[in-house]
Amino acid sequence: MPLVFYNTLTKKKERFRPRRDREVRMYNCGPTVYDYAHIGNFRSYVFADTLRRYLEHRNYKVLQVMNLTDVDDKTIRGARREGLTLREYTDRYAKAFFEDIKALNILPAKSYPRATEMIQEMVEFIKVLIKKGHAYRGEDGIYFDISSFPSYGKLSGIEIKNLKAGARVRQDEYDKENAQDFALWKFWDENDGDVYWETEFGKGRPGWHIECSVMSMKELGTLDIHTGGVDLIFPHHENEIAQSEAFLGKPFVKYWMHNEHLLVEGRKMSKSLGNFFTLRDLLKKGHDPMAIRYLLLSAHYRAKLNFTENALRSAENTVNRLRRFVEDLSFYSSKRKNNPAIEKAIRKAFQGFERAMDDDLNVPEALPFLFDFVSEVTSLMNSGEMSSADARKAYEAMMDFNFILGLDLNRIAREAKRESVMLGGREFRIRYSGIEIDEEIKQKIIERERFRLSRQWKEADRIRESLRRKGIVLEDEDNGVKVSRD
Ligand code: AMP
Ligand code: ZN
Repeated sequence: MPLVFYNTLTKKKERFRPRRDREVRMYNCGPTVYDYAHIGNFRSYVFADTLRRYLEHRNYKVLQVMNLTDVDDKTIRGARREGLTLREYTDRYAKAFFEDIKALNILPAKSYPRATEMIQEMVEFIKVLIKKGHAYRGEDGIYFDISSFPSYGKLSGIEIKNLKAGARVRQDEYDKENAQDFALWKFWDENDGDVYWETEFGKGRPGWHIECSVMSMKELGTLDIHTGGVDLIFPHHENEIAQSEAFLGKPFVKYWMHNEHLLVEGRKMSKSLGNFFTLRDLLKKGHDPMAIRYLLLSAHYRAKLNFTENALRSAENTVNRLRRFVEDLSFYSSKRKNNPAIEKAIRKAFQGFERAMDDDLNVPEALPFLFDFVSEVTSLMNSGEMSSADARKAYEAMMDFNFILGLDLNRIAREAKRESVMLGGREFRIRYSGIEIDEEIKQKIIERERFRLSRQWKEADRIRESLRRKGIVLEDEDNGVKVSRD
């Protein structure tokens, strides 16, 4: 099965063929650092990260760049409100952003250019647009003339028939009824306070759209993939195409990929509606960041996803189940012969999973193959019908899935504590699964094992029961016991 992606530009699924054989140049519209990002924003970045991880799994080298929008209408407003310099203000939220993506196990991009660090490049870019007849000077800024770009509207499908000549829009964000010439450069006015650059155009600052064209091309040249949420299709990405292709005289991006929104009670999670959760809010309430990631990636990226705390709790259960499975595999030991069912199960799981992912990253169709694999191997493990080598193979397979999904599933296995005690001339292993216990309980566990060795089953069971009443569960293993919480 070839890899196919839905391309917003052509409105169909297309076979993925990057410009250079195994190398993918990908740009993701990053955060506007004017506030803490909400988990709707993170749906965008988790999508971009999953896409990157899957491409890497498919042996592509991915050059990924994500920008930080650190000068626009919103950042200037925020900095002025708090009496901070633009840099002080945006640094606070840039720092928070990096902490948040780390918590969500999002792989770092190759670079995170900041708009304020590429102003001169933007000026040069706009000069070329003026020279080519695509931009002109208005009274309050330099504007892109959309009538000079005949295919304007090809991404969003917007009609510009009724365009009033010379109608233009200065704000960065505006709606579809408003296709107009848009600002590339804004001359300083008092709302900008001390935010301006002295350039050949005079005192001023860039518009939002030009920032992404310049940052992406500067870092990557023309792009294979450009991503963002669907709200960016118009005007942001439509304008990026117009500017960039007018500048280049050739196509700018091969595949445009857009994620749908995260909703709350049927409406887009957004700052303006006030119906948002930041990652921080949820972590403070004790939610697991990997469950949040799982929830965000488990829906198809082109489907709307409704956020509820119930869905988050169920994601938590799923992630914990996967972790326990990985942990059990990593401690499984048996002298049994290899069971051919394991390799078969691995092959089946990957085939199904990859077939679904190859089809426009269909995560919800891919995941059931993973869960079937977990169930199948769990039952072989529980009945002891597999070898230690089988468990290692299954563990490696889980680590491949874990790379694609980015759920840090081996964390508990990594951190799990184990100790050995010599009993009756052989090693008795106690492993603690997500639990810490005191010496008294440990002695009870050892006492129980002594009873078992001398076949005093009743006494052994009595201890197990008494621990169970304290919420501590003992499960016997090949040469030891697993201790966990109820
Ligand atoms: P912003 O910081 O507002 O520029 O948004 C950053 C990214 O988050 C953009 O790609 C937006 O399209 C995306 N985004 C904003 N709100 C949502 C939402 N509720 N669901 C999914 N993506 C969103
Ligand atoms: Zn952008």
